[in-house]
Amino acid sequence: MQISKDLVASIHYTLKNADGEVLDTSEGQEPLHYVHGAQNIVPGLEKELEGKTTGDKLSVAVEPIDGYGEYNAELIQELPKDMFAGVDTIEVGMEFQAQTPEGGMQIIEVKSIDGDKITVDGNHPMAGQTLHFDVEITDVREATKDELEHGHVHSEGCDH
Ligand SMILES: [Zn+2]
Repeated sequence: MQISKDLVASIHYTLKNADGEVLDTSEGQEPLHYVHGAQNIVPGLEKELEGKTTGDKLSVAVEPIDGYGEYNAELIQELPKDMFAGVDTIEVGMEFQAQTPEGGMQIIEVKSIDGDKITVDGNHPMAGQTLHFDVEITDVREATKDELEHGHVHSEGCDH
């Protein structure tokens, strides 16, 4: 079976940055199962997997625009400490969920603290990076009806 829209593919992958450092890998774990065409994985990788089949191996370089986006300096913001009501201690490196002006959710990371001014960065940690994936396809199957409705893969025993 060839990978195409609405099929579930299982892949082993290793993700490296331009310097060859490993950022993420499925090695030693379950392969990643995803619904093809449901935006479970970055668009640049999804596009390259189209039409591939079990046993295929590929190396893909994904530009930021097809990955986690370009680094956007406007996502660095200085917020007053009151915005963090309910948080006892704010430390550099902490991550919070925040609402974007468009109503979506984004993760922001605390970059620096200067008295009552907290500087946060809403960029994805891998924004602006070219992503180098080594991928091996281990399985391709039909998605179940529930998986298609939910747009994600259900692992065994998961019945929400
Ligand atoms: Zn579900």
